[in-house]
Amino acid sequence: MTFNDLGLSEKVLDAVQQAGFEKPTPIQEQAIPVALQGRDVLGIAQTGTGKTGAFVLPMLTQLEKGRARARMPRTLIIEPTRELAAQVADAFTSLGQNHKLTMALLIGGVSFEDQDRKLGRGVDVLIATPGRLLDHFERGKLLMNGVEILVIDEADRMLDMGFIPDVERICKLLPPRRQTLFFSATMPSEIQRLVNSFLKDPVRIEVARPSSTAANVRQALVKASSEAKAKRETLRGLIRGAVELKNAIVFCNRKRDVAVVHRSLARHGFNAGALHGDMDQHARMATLDSFRNGEITLLVASDVAARGLDIPEVSHIFNFDVPTHAEDYVHRIGRTGRAGRSGTAWTLVTPAESKYVRAIQSLIGNDLPWEGAGGELAEEAPRGGRGRGRAKDAPHSKGRDRGGKAAPAKEDRRDSAPQTRKAQLKEPEAAAATDMSGDIRPEIAAASEFERPAPRAQSRHPKQRGNEKSGADTVFGESEYVPAFLLRPTRASSK
Ligand code: AMP
Repeated sequence: MTFNDLGLSEKVLDAVQQAGFEKPTPIQEQAIPVALQGRDVLGIAQTGTGKTGAFVLPMLTQLEKGRARARMPRTLIIEPTRELAAQVADAFTSLGQNHKLTMALLIGGVSFEDQDRKLGRGVDVLIATPGRLLDHFERGKLLMNGVEILVIDEADRMLDMGFIPDVERICKLLPPRRQTLFFSATMPSEIQRLVNSFLKDPVRIEVARPSSTAANVRQALVKASSEAKAKRETLRGLIRGAVELKNAIVFCNRKRDVAVVHRSLARHGFNAGALHGDMDQHARMATLDSFRNGEITLLVASDVAARGLDIPEVSHIFNFDVPTHAEDYVHRIGRTGRAGRSGTAWTLVTPAESKYVRAIQSLIGNDLPWEGAGGELAEEAPRGGRGRGRAKDAPHSKGRDRGGKAAPAKEDRRDSAPQTRKAQLKEPEAAAATDMSGDIRPEIAAASEFERPAPRAQSRHPKQRGNEKSGADTVFGESEYVPAFLLRPTRASSK
């Protein structure tokens, strides 16, 4: 099937060609014709599947008829994070290059006045995070009764971030006679309930099994010491030994470790940057741009900071920690192997982290192979997955001999990878200059053991929305919601 078969307008088809998209992705192939008929869509798809195009392209075609009125947006797209909202705005700009449509982006960190001015002139497309949207509405700056198409994107992320009450409120403010395009990577019961309440006879389109990882990503587990220094050494060995490493994201569970790992990599001469939730919008965007354009080869990041980012062509993922929430593993791995490219994902596993590996394996329905064969990891290895051989480009570990006999872990890890180093490395002094760990406020780093935001299904207290309103001052930039326990004053850890 080609884009010409989907019913898109000439202007849109021309922009698709300009964008270099040769053929529709499965979600686009299935969702676009349905959306053009005006039907509600329930799209179960992860980032990286082309789902943004699946709603942007039909919307552009539909918006060719009619025009915007002051303060009455014609279409509304709700996104869980500022970055995602900004990415969708970019997609509208590039794919809407043949349209004279007006667009406003209502996200924290941008002045209310500018946003208000745009709304006043009338917008065809309004892209917003839930809190900022409701703030504008409550100030009487926005009328929602002209919305013809509503897009709810990354609904399961909204759930994670405690945004569902806001989303429900927004849905109730919209005219019932509207079209709703709803996207989520997974369908937990709370999301299904939302779908039942706010979608009318939707066409369900599922392009990949929820919680599945791409088949073109080689994944493997690597035994690591629970001693932090030795674990970092193992990481360095993996990076040095990685085959065809173009760029990589190193995921840590705690933002404190993002800073530590970043500093350590820089000290050892790696060209690394860091992305964590305490960085302001500007700093995060600057780091991301450096990573996108190749100035930075390794990006050390936490889950919240990296969520939803569209970083094409990441060749490797290194999970410095096993994610404690199995779904985060799927999201992390989703950063590589995009658009059919191959990718590699390594996960360092300390004995204490085995239980999280079990949860991941049960979620993805697969055993993850351990680096190297043999049963030495038996005590620590989770069910299955043991002795299943090495991942395709696994480094040859000197940590065990050919018979699979384990050698002392810690020291050997340093040399566990061949020295055919493909990672682009800079001189230590140059790399050290990229160290941004000074951005981390120790009291917050110490307080927020894990950066994950609200637990599932947790409603936000209305007072907590104050954090979104503060715009550029927002501390926890991406997850606009800050759980109350993170706001309590604490003493910095002496470690
Ligand atoms: P998304 O899942 O919407 O975040 O898209 C992931 C990436 O795929 C983005 O970089 C898009 O520009 C790209 N993309 C979207 N649709 C297509 C397509 N039909 N062909 C090639 N790349 C695409």
